[in-house]
Amino acid sequence: MTAHPSGRPDAPLEPMPEDWHRALAVVAHPDDLEYGCAAAVALWTDAGREVAYALATRGEAGIDTLAPDECGPLREREQRAGAAVVGVAEVEFLGHRDGVIEYGPRLRRDIAAAIRRHRPELVITLNHRDTWGGTVWNTPDHVAVGRATLDAAGDAGNRWIFPELTAAGLEPWDGVRWVAVAGSATPTHAVPAEPGMERAVRSLLEHRAYLTALTDQDPEEYCRAFLTGTAGATAARFGGRPAVAFELFPR
Ligand SMILES: [Zn+2]
Repeated sequence: MTAHPSGRPDAPLEPMPEDWHRALAVVAHPDDLEYGCAAAVALWTDAGREVAYALATRGEAGIDTLAPDECGPLREREQRAGAAVVGVAEVEFLGHRDGVIEYGPRLRRDIAAAIRRHRPELVITLNHRDTWGGTVWNTPDHVAVGRATLDAAGDAGNRWIFPELTAAGLEPWDGVRWVAVAGSATPTHAVPAEPGMERAVRSLLEHRAYLTALTDQDPEEYCRAFLTGTAGATAARFGGRPAVAFELFPR
């Protein structure tokens, strides 16, 4: 039997690795993790694993009717509440500007610093490619942060790339074994979504101000329909089980 080539549209998804203790999820905005990943995070924290979140921005440009100086602190609170629902106590914000995150050494350094602080074996990020598949265009913030996270997994282990981090007491961490990209159009692995689904719905619901601005639909119905729909669409490739899919980049 030969292995299915990675990314073939109908290839079965492998179970995610389980021999790890700490994960760090790095994304651009509040709610990026709640739109799918949170069900997986709930399952992991249930199993006693530590998961921390690092967000490049506070999502301050995300609500048309709310100015950034009001919106940022509000969305930070919503993010911390959403993380707590799935067992994540540590949430840090890297202070980049929402909507105009630049890929480059500063972003890589800030993510490498977060990786050194948390020392994860597994790093999670969101789709770094130009599209969500087909012609559905991704946003520049997701592309920049996803790409910089894949790069920073290596940067974190190199003493000489960002010597200012070592000088500040952040010793190199070369222990990242995988970067798992959520929202990829070419996933390779998956985590069962059902055990964490109720908490995933409540986690997304914590982004109340954002959701209220986004849709007239009942917020809970909206969250449940979105999350069960996405997980259900993955089931055909995961033995019929609704799942959260990732594209896994081993290191
Ligand atoms: Zn986003």
